[in-house]
Amino acid sequence: MRVVLMGPPGAGKGTQAKRLAEKFRMAHLSSGDIFRAEKAGGSALGAKLAEYMSAGKLVPDEIVVDVMAKAIRECSAGGGLLLDGFPRTVPQAQALDKQLAASRTPLDAVVVITADDEQIVRRITGRRSCPKCGRIYHTEFMPPRENNVCDDDKATLDQRADDKEDVVRQRLEAYYRQTEPVIGYYRQSNGEHVVEVDGNRAPEEVTASLIEAVSRLAGA
Ligand code: ADP
Ligand code: ADP
Repeated sequence: MRVVLMGPPGAGKGTQAKRLAEKFRMAHLSSGDIFRAEKAGGSALGAKLAEYMSAGKLVPDEIVVDVMAKAIRECSAGGGLLLDGFPRTVPQAQALDKQLAASRTPLDAVVVITADDEQIVRRITGRRSCPKCGRIYHTEFMPPRENNVCDDDKATLDQRADDKEDVVRQRLEAYYRQTEPVIGYYRQSNGEHVVEVDGNRAPEEVTASLIEAVSRLAGA
């Protein structure tokens, strides 16, 4: 099963992707996580990615498509695939379609998690994550048991550098201008496989709707 998870920054893609990937045994590929790992590794590519990410701008399509095509090839030997944060532009969606058509493994579902701007800003400014295992928390909505410490491995939680309010505004602008059109692209080419899920609700309610939608669309 191959699923694309879309939605504005802070909608809950990462949180929900972990749950869906586990439930349906899919490999979870997050473009943001892959880029942050590249940046942390200190490569020249990582430094280039960081320029765009810290400004809240989308990384250019040629770079994104290259990195993600390789990541998909490395993990999709017949297994399930959950793409989180990719594609984010129409040319990226076209490149993905081409790659999946060549391997005869087309998308089963495109799921969009919606969220209001006010909710997005509250979620992003309170977001914290574990540098060791990647688990996502929120200072108010999903706090760890012990203040600022990961429940699972006791590492001190991090705040992402691009989760500051001025960068968040840039990212939202990029979403509405460059990423929302991707939903239209999929509706046109693959309309029956697209579904929107209201992400303004409690995490468990969102998870239940996502599981229902993916099961239905993918015939799982
Ligand atoms: P969020 O979880 O808030 O939606 P991500 O972690 O997915 O953010 O992405 C962080 C940043 O990485 C983006 O603001 C952008 O600079 C870059 N990025 C991630 N995925 C893509 C993509 N598919 N195309 C272009 N840039 C991307
Ligand atoms: P995205 O990957 O779309 O940027 P995340 O999954 O990282 O979003 O979630 C953004 C922040 O909002 C995190 O701090 C997360 O704990 C919190 N969050 C996610 N889903 C919900 C929800 N349904 N209700 C309240 N907070 C949420």
